[in-house]
Amino acid sequence: MTESRTIVVPAGVDAGTEIPVTVITGAQAGPVLALIAGNHGYEYPPILALQRLRGSIDAAELSGTVIMVHVANMPSFLGRTVYFSPVDGKNLNRVYPGRQHGTVSERIAWAITREVIEKAGYVLDLHCGDGNEWLRPYVYQMVTADERLNAEMARLALAFGIDHILIDRNRPTDPEHSLYCSNTAITRGIPGLTIESGGLGMSDDASVDAIVAGVRGVMRELKMIAAGPAPVARPVYLDPAEVVTSPATGILYWLVKPNQMVKKGTVLARITDFFGQLPAEVESPLDGVVLYVVATPPISKGQPVACIGSPCERA
Ligand SMILES: [Zn+2]
Repeated sequence: MTESRTIVVPAGVDAGTEIPVTVITGAQAGPVLALIAGNHGYEYPPILALQRLRGSIDAAELSGTVIMVHVANMPSFLGRTVYFSPVDGKNLNRVYPGRQHGTVSERIAWAITREVIEKAGYVLDLHCGDGNEWLRPYVYQMVTADERLNAEMARLALAFGIDHILIDRNRPTDPEHSLYCSNTAITRGIPGLTIESGGLGMSDDASVDAIVAGVRGVMRELKMIAAGPAPVARPVYLDPAEVVTSPATGILYWLVKPNQMVKKGTVLARITDFFGQLPAEVESPLDGVVLYVVATPPISKGQPVACIGSPCERA
């Protein structure tokens, strides 16, 4: 059975909003898999991938339940904003698990935590490069103190089928201050991944296809469907990886492309002032592969310019 509805986020200190969700209940028992798109409203391939999956998952053939959040951050999606909500200026993916009586981003996070994440056995938070980010696909595999959870997440990361897997050891461990959507699952003992496929405000088929195939790969791994794409045969684990931030506010000129190998000290981008003068150079802090680079001109001091991951043998 496939049922769609909206989760109503009531008005509070600011206007309310709605979150469109679909629940596909399989004919056979099995795990509950939550798929969350649109935490960032300018990231389109995950949103389009869920539309395709909604139409292609057959409840009669499904073991378990799929919960889809089609657009988590409706104010940002309809307002076409990068990173931050047009209503409260907050980054939804930094305010989890949210607050019942907070601003709208916090109330959205609160609703998704209770109505989706805490009801799931597995959570995939689907992203891409935001409207300003040019990106090669990769998966964040979080590492915790819980070996069972780590093993489950390692298995899911391979099952998703994207070969670059970033090992992330730096997420908060307090469930009341989980900050990130997938980390809200993880701090509650639920395996979660963050996926990145696409970017620059585009909705290209290749990026959408990778997400659709990835979800089907995870569903196969969890035995929710009988057949699906095979796991990654030769993963490239990235450990360490670093987000490089801008030392200045101004106009950004990118000098490297996604998937390019760089050395420690390679200039990733140049930042000028608004007159084209006083360039600051942003260098790579390590040898590695460019996972994303900001490829549009506006940049503020402290904001990400690029993410570089250092390939290693094993997770
Ligand atoms: Zn995002």
